[in-house]
Amino acid sequence: MILTYHKIKCFKGKDAIATGLIPFFLQMFLIRKKHVVYLEEYTPANEDQFVITFDDGYREVIKYALPVLRIFKYPFEIFVVGDFIKAAESGNKNYLDTKDIAIILKNRGRLQYHSRTHPHLELINDLCILEDEIKPPEWLRTLDPKGFKYFAYPFWVYNNDVITLVKKYYCGARSGNGCANDTVYALDSKRL
Ligand SMILES: [Zn+2]
Repeated sequence: MILTYHKIKCFKGKDAIATGLIPFFLQMFLIRKKHVVYLEEYTPANEDQFVITFDDGYREVIKYALPVLRIFKYPFEIFVVGDFIKAAESGNKNYLDTKDIAIILKNRGRLQYHSRTHPHLELINDLCILEDEIKPPEWLRTLDPKGFKYFAYPFWVYNNDVITLVKKYYCGARSGNGCANDTVYALDSKRL
């Protein structure tokens, strides 16, 4: 099973995409006897396997999730958005910057791609614009040579044009929330 998180916070509060630190710790504790793997080792039919993924690259991942992940020595994947990292480099504290990413990579984290600007890809008709959103940029690929083999569809949604371009650059893609059929290019996931 693939688990999808966004932000981990001390307390979830009213943030719809946050998971509280204590529930997150308990969820990680509950899978301690399972096989936690990277996406490229994952077989959906194997019920013993778990993949931990974080979407969007929020700064809370390094602040709250990483200390927990280090306790259990779990591998994990972060689906980053190109322009969000650029914003962090320009001082936006909401997202991971390249220094944070270096720490994440040293602690069993791996980078995958989640588009350039996080749009609704299914609404883009211009194939050049669509390709620009989907193709992993070279400056990001150099940050993690082992990563960028998987794509996560923003808002879980895709169409035939999106899948055709994703197949050009990636060996698989993650969706979820009822939009997935658990094939390699529409891997299902559970949002927590
Ligand atoms: Zn997202």
